[in-house]
Amino acid sequence: MGMKVWINGNLVDEQDAKITVFDHGLLYGDGVFEGIRVYAGKIFKCRAHLVRLYESAKVICLPIPISLDEMKDAMEQAIEANNVQEGYIRLIVTRGTGDLGLNPFICHDGGIIIIADNIQLYPEELYEKGMEVVSVSTIRNHPLACPPQVKSLNYLNNILAKIEAVQAGASEGIMYNHLGFVAEATGDNVFVVKNGVIYTPPVQAGSLDGITRQVVFELAGKEDIRVVEKDLTRFDLYIADEMFLTGTAAEVIGVVLMDGRQVGNGVPGAITKLLRKKFFEYARS
Ligand code: PMP
Repeated sequence: MGMKVWINGNLVDEQDAKITVFDHGLLYGDGVFEGIRVYAGKIFKCRAHLVRLYESAKVICLPIPISLDEMKDAMEQAIEANNVQEGYIRLIVTRGTGDLGLNPFICHDGGIIIIADNIQLYPEELYEKGMEVVSVSTIRNHPLACPPQVKSLNYLNNILAKIEAVQAGASEGIMYNHLGFVAEATGDNVFVVKNGVIYTPPVQAGSLDGITRQVVFELAGKEDIRVVEKDLTRFDLYIADEMFLTGTAAEVIGVVLMDGRQVGNGVPGAITKLLRKKFFEYARS
């Protein structure tokens, strides 16, 4: 039996889950989205994801015709219809049908799409060994371009960065901002540990305000580990004792090679491993 997709209030079979080619989500990447985890049948950090979605929509002047609570209900319908226990939800709001011009204000029938799927977790080996990352030349959006805090359907900038990383044989790319400070990875936030203190770029450096990032702040606080939001340079990454990435899909994952420089001892560090363990417990609590 195939998957059911929630579109504009209806749960339809996946092969019938279609939108028009005139949707500006397709024509221009005009829309917003969220990627959300389901742990033990429960939507993880539902409210925080919804707030980010509605804020992103507000910035691009995209009205969402249903309330946050109605959106939560819709997500619950989608996970129930697909019997998702350990899963991943892709929530998309598109601008809707327009003509071939850019003007978003003539678009109508914006689409709300919810795909709820079970997720195959990354192999445990990747977490044990840690990953390799490289610096990429594609910078995060300038704050006066589409603000980097907006989780829009237009991910081309990050895709260009991902292409660079993959072509260099690495799993992820570290993106910098227009000032040369570290922003984040292509789909994850970045952290380093130096002398027992955790550092991560402030959101103003061009990172997405990651939900997993926020959870790490909370978990580190509980462990009495200090977290400092501060502009970081490549130098700070090269001399770090530990480095890790956070994101909904990746959770907390150690980095062991950065631009060919070994990070710490070349294995995920103690704080990284502790946070990963605490995150796992927290997500299922
Ligand atoms: N940065 C970018 C560009 C992302 O797409 C994501 C994934 N949504 C993240 C960071 C991590 O954010 P979160 O922890 O909310 O998944």
